[in-house]
Amino acid sequence: MNELTVVMYHYVRALARSRYPAIKGLDVGRFRGQLAYLEQHGRFVGVEDVLAACRGEDDLPPDAVLLTFDDGYADHWRYVFPLLDERGVQGCFFAPVRAVRDRVVLDVHKIHFTLAACGDPGLLAAHCLARIADWRDEYGLEAPAQYEAGLPRASRFDDPRTLFVKRLLQRGLPEAARARLADELFRRFVTADEAAFAEELYLDVDQVRAMRRGGMWFGAHGQSHRWLDGLDESAQHAELLASSDWLRELGYEDGEFVVAYPYGGYDATTVAVARELGYGLGFTVEVRVARIGRDDPLLLPRLDTVDVPCDPAAAGRGRPT
Ligand SMILES: [Zn+2]
Repeated sequence: MNELTVVMYHYVRALARSRYPAIKGLDVGRFRGQLAYLEQHGRFVGVEDVLAACRGEDDLPPDAVLLTFDDGYADHWRYVFPLLDERGVQGCFFAPVRAVRDRVVLDVHKIHFTLAACGDPGLLAAHCLARIADWRDEYGLEAPAQYEAGLPRASRFDDPRTLFVKRLLQRGLPEAARARLADELFRRFVTADEAAFAEELYLDVDQVRAMRRGGMWFGAHGQSHRWLDGLDESAQHAELLASSDWLRELGYEDGEFVVAYPYGGYDATTVAVARELGYGLGFTVEVRVARIGRDDPLLLPRLDTVDVPCDPAAAGRGRPT
């Protein structure tokens, strides 16, 4: 059995100088610190190494570390790629097809930027509850108080009101109502020019190809970042097939496809469909170090960037189990 620390990143940017300093991201200076820390305490490996270890062909080095980046942000081209390239480290980038190829702003990101731009989660929560009342008949919704009662109160990342808005818009409401509400809030608090925003937010296909030529690896993150475990088998198949078709266009072959399940959502159907479509590795958001040879290769856990020290002088890394 080989241990593998997989680290999950999302936004990595020069936060203080960005247009949305409140976005929940990792500042590029701290990212540099984490790279130095991991360089000192671990050994970076690439997706090929992990695939070979999962097939039992080769062992991973002790303290193996794989860096993963979700959501296909242009941040990854602008800030991450140069730093990894300079160190000869491979990153694995999970990009939703509709973001990178079709240039639409995904609902999940409309919510992030609405929260960052508005700055008042209480106001957003009130807006959502008012809309739930307005749309009750149209979407067959519960009474607003039911949604308030049924949602969790805290997480390790968000205050309760922010978490309320996120959960409501990410999963609490039916998909059509969620999409409409996220779009309405995005237009009101962020911008009406979705196309320009998508251009600024996401990697484009040329950047993807250049990063791939530079040794980076690309993986699937669904077509439009839906919860796979909320979908029936044919819809899950469609999401994962659109992604593997896109990966094939980039030059990957059966067995080399890798996926990070959007929001970490999966069920037994997801894993069976991914296996059937030729995915070799799948990543969740379960927080622990992976045990290659013991964990299902399609269900590898990951640490979050917040679990990694930003100071290279810090003692050996903690290992949540
Ligand atoms: Zn994601």
